[in-house]
Amino acid sequence: MFAKSSARRDYHLVRADKDQTLCGLTVVPLIIDRPVNSTHLHLTTEPPKNTGLCPKCEEVDGSSVQVADAARQSFLDAGA
Ligand SMILES: [Zn+2]
Repeated sequence: MFAKSSARRDYHLVRADKDQTLCGLTVVPLIIDRPVNSTHLHLTTEPPKNTGLCPKCEEVDGSSVQVADAARQSFLDAGA
């Protein structure tokens, strides 16, 4: 699930609870899969075309992947 608004060109990744973006912005819990003129962040099921991912969301997403990898590695190490 993704979040975007027309106030900014980039889009955000949404936390599991869908209340906030990974970078901490509040999301309106509405899925709108068409271009709308709204400054409120709303949900979309597809990443918007021709826009980039918010740098903060990308950073948080990347660090959570690294944490997951580290956890899996320590699990494997413990099992070996
Ligand atoms: Zn963001």
